[in-house]
Parts: sequence; structure tokens; C-alpha cells
Amino acid sequence: MECTDLSLYVYREFLIPMRSIGWLGREHGIPGAGMASLGSADLSRLKSASWILSTLTLGWHDCEFCDGEEGFEGNGEYHYYFQDGSTYSAPMMILHYVEEHGYRPPEDFLERLRKAGPLEWDWRAERLSEVLLDETEDLERRCGVIVDLANWREPRTLDVLWRAAQDEELVDVGGVEIGRSLGVLLSCDFAKGIDVSSFPETIEYGIELTSQGVTVPEWFGDC
Ligand SMILES: [Zn+2]
Repeated sequence: MECTDLSLYVYREFLIPMRSIGWLGREHGIPGAGMASLGSADLSRLKSASWILSTLTLGWHDCEFCDGEEGFEGNGEYHYYFQDGSTYSAPMMILHYVEEHGYRPPEDFLERLRKAGPLEWDWRAERLSEVLLDETEDLERRCGVIVDLANWREPRTLDVLWRAAQDEELVDVGGVEIGRSLGVLLSCDFAKGIDVSSFPETIEYGIELTSQGVTVPEWFGDC
């Protein structure tokens, strides 16, 4: 799917309005190609901010700009939550576009990235939590918000995920996601005393995935 940078994200239904970045395609090509490439400080910041994939349920996408059979393909997307309340969505391939094809994300986004810091609990966290814990909501919709909650590394998130982990129906479908999200909190002081072995296997598996492959951005600060 191709969307122009900063257009409203409409790829799939999501509770939080987001701006699109890096949803590139042949029609509009690669913004920034031929201009100065992204500086190393911005690139390293972008890499740190692309720390956890929000959704893995979408199909695989081939890079439309790679030649030949050895093309790059990606699955899932990154969501970037900023303190000013803005939220952006990029395909997993954004780093590939930047590094291999000279894509330059819009300055609006880069500015926010440079100033990124720890998030305060806000209406977005509240909305994601509400839907996750609402048993009358569609299960897929509920599962789709779990990983994003890990952007708020604080006791309220732990409480919400803990309650989600008690919901058998939810755990059946989204246990791995609950674990991936919980895994982000387990190193925090407020999560000391959580007994991982008390969780169902799918959750434990998700926790394991996070402990092996996820590095929280340093600007999230201590927890
Ligand atoms: Zn490519």
C-alpha cells in the first residue's frame, strides 16, 4: 500500500489517529532520494525509535525499489508515539528505505524524534487500555493494541496487562502479544516480584521474545 508522507493513516482500522511515514511505492517514488541522506544522529535515533513491531498480522510486502530476486520484504509496522500527542505509523521496511534507497522521512517527524522523551500517561494510553479490557469489543481489535501499550512504561500499564492476562479468551488469541508487552516492563522497579512462571505458556513465550530481541529507546528513561 502506498500513502503520501504525513497523510492520515488508513491502512487498517486503528484506535489512535496516526500520520503515515514511509509507506512508499512506485507512484510517488522515494521522497528525499537524491537529497542529502539522513545524518547519522537522525538515523541512529530512528533505529532506536523503531524498537518494537506493533502488528505482525499483515501480509508480507516486497520492496518495490530493489532490483532482482533478492528483494527485501517486510511484515508489520512501527508506531511512534510522541509527547506532544502526535503518533506516526511506518512499515517495518522504513529502515531499509532509508539505508538502501535514500529515503528521508519528513522534517516534522524528524523534529519530534530529536526531542523524544518518556511519555506521560495520556488519552492514547487510556483509550488503548479501555479497549483491551473491554470484553464486548472485537477480539482482534483488542489484540491489536497490546504491544503499543508498552510505550508507557509505568505501573498502570502493568496493571492493565496483568488484567488482560487473566482473560482466557484474550490470552488464547493475544497471549504472545501480552507477553511481548509485559517483557518490556519486567526490568522496571515496579514490576519486581512478578512471577513469570505463573503465566500461561504463550505469555511466557512473548516475554522471552522481548527479552531476546527488544531494546527500549534510551530516552524512555528509568522505570
Ligand atoms: Zn529495497
